[in-house]
Amino acid sequence: MSTNLSSQQLIELENQYGAHNYHPLPVVLSKGEGVFVWDVEGKKYYDFLSAYSAVNQGHCHPKLVEAMTKQAQTLTLTSRAFYNDKLGVYEEKITKLLGFDKVLPMNSGAEAVETAIKLTRKWAYEEKQIPEQQAVIVVCENNFHGRTTTIISFSNDPEARKNYGPYTEGFIRIPYNDVNALKEVLENNKNIAGFLVEPIQGEAGVYVPNEGFLSEANKLCKAHNVLFIADEVQTGIARTGKMLAVQHENIQPDVLVLGKALSGGMYPVSAVLANDEIMNVIKPGQHGSTFGGNPLAAAVAIAALDVVIDEKLAENAEELGQLFRAELNKYIETSNICTLVRGKGLLNAIVINDSEESDTAWNICLRLRDNGLLAKPTHGNIIRFAPPLVMNKEQLLDCVAIITKTLKEFEK
Ligand code: PLP
Repeated sequence: MSTNLSSQQLIELENQYGAHNYHPLPVVLSKGEGVFVWDVEGKKYYDFLSAYSAVNQGHCHPKLVEAMTKQAQTLTLTSRAFYNDKLGVYEEKITKLLGFDKVLPMNSGAEAVETAIKLTRKWAYEEKQIPEQQAVIVVCENNFHGRTTTIISFSNDPEARKNYGPYTEGFIRIPYNDVNALKEVLENNKNIAGFLVEPIQGEAGVYVPNEGFLSEANKLCKAHNVLFIADEVQTGIARTGKMLAVQHENIQPDVLVLGKALSGGMYPVSAVLANDEIMNVIKPGQHGSTFGGNPLAAAVAIAALDVVIDEKLAENAEELGQLFRAELNKYIETSNICTLVRGKGLLNAIVINDSEESDTAWNICLRLRDNGLLAKPTHGNIIRFAPPLVMNKEQLLDCVAIITKTLKEFEK
């Protein structure tokens, strides 16, 4: 279905009729396939963002398109008022794959985080016997867990928070990657229900914690009967070189939050996983979602997980991630515009040698676009690089060449 409108006309339409809650890079996409996207004028680009890691399986993966269209022609939504023939099959698959007793299906990442918060609080009152209204969840500085009122209540990003109050209470923020801060807060407060953490802080700028941080934090949580809640909405589903980023430290969280690539970018599908002693505190009528667990979502998620496993996307992310950082590090040795590359698997970022307020990173992304690669700055002078995991080595090296060539154009 072609609109016959130019990129400029389509941008103007969005500007005029859409709320201005985003500042997109000026490129208008109309087609995607694997690691590539095309704009309405037919120019081809490498997608180096993957819709913030939702398109790990690549754009319009044929197996996902097949699952989606087949199910769309059969049954899409029943609500949970009735059973459907896909949900149980999906639930068995994801729980067995990830080693949990149960899954609670939702739609967006933020909804799944909200669900994890509600589950943690309910568990705290009903199992840990924390006095009513006193449960506290520990979170980290510079976290990003979504956009609901409760979630932005514990953010420290002024842009995400300002003038959305009154805020939800019951959260304590500690520095990220700081085991001692966690230890102190756990020792000084008996009412802590959970510790909510991103295994790598994606939105903040791809901050990878020190090795051992997550496993130490997990141990501390166990010692204090506090739930370790891993938000793997961005890091999960093979992005960092393992199915889950916590698997790099051999941890099984008490509560796991997934979204984004759980549907390969087809449709909003998110999930919260936990074992029975936690999940069973939620009883019929106490939480829900009209769309959560619908047969279309279940069919797509089954296919999305199959693709990740069958095509060994975690292994590919690990291998290509190593290569990407090694190649960029070679360039950085002699660069005065890029000071650092960091990340795990194919979730990486570079730091641009300019102030956080400068528009250099934005201008680099515009030039990357002109040179055929799409990426977006995150937090000023950081550019996140997260291509679909179906990329091959030759394509990755091609992308490295585009990136280094573009960065060279900005050297001082
Ligand atoms: N949690 C993390 C770690 C995320 O990165 C995001 C989105 O970027 C979310 C939660 C929110 O997901 P959604 O935008 O689907 O609500």
